[in-house]
Amino acid sequence: MPGPFRNAALSKAAQTHRLRKLRAPSKCRECEGIIMVNGAECEECSLTCHRKCLESVAILCGHRKLQGKVCLFGVDFAQAPRTTPGEIPFIIRKCTAEIESRALGLQGIYRVSGSKVRVSKLCQSFESGRELIDMSENSPTTSPTS
Ligand SMILES: [Zn+2]
Ligand SMILES: [Zn+2]
Repeated sequence: MPGPFRNAALSKAAQTHRLRKLRAPSKCRECEGIIMVNGAECEECSLTCHRKCLESVAILCGHRKLQGKVCLFGVDFAQAPRTTPGEIPFIIRKCTAEIESRALGLQGIYRVSGSKVRVSKLCQSFESGRELIDMSENSPTTSPTS
């Protein structure tokens, strides 16, 4: 990957962004912390992230400006964002599709609970990046502790 972060450990999602060094202090989309130094910013979607958070960021590049955060969890099911009325909320569609696509190849996917830390991070990512979340690096087998 070209650019200033070619030597950093990048998650699959991080590799989809066109990263440059962050110029002004900003909020990290991955950990919610303030970035003072060593930040990255995407030229296409304006995602901002700590250099160290590029390892785990799950938000893919949408190639247009990333929307602000939405509230997805802890809200009434009827209020969950959906594109057309009466449609199944995307969060449900996305999660069931992910499970079904990996059900036959991933041991424990129906049985083992995810790590609490990773689940809450993933929830945060969904509120920050909505449809743009890459879940392929999350699985029960790669997080044995919970
Ligand atoms: Zn961060
Ligand atoms: Zn981007």
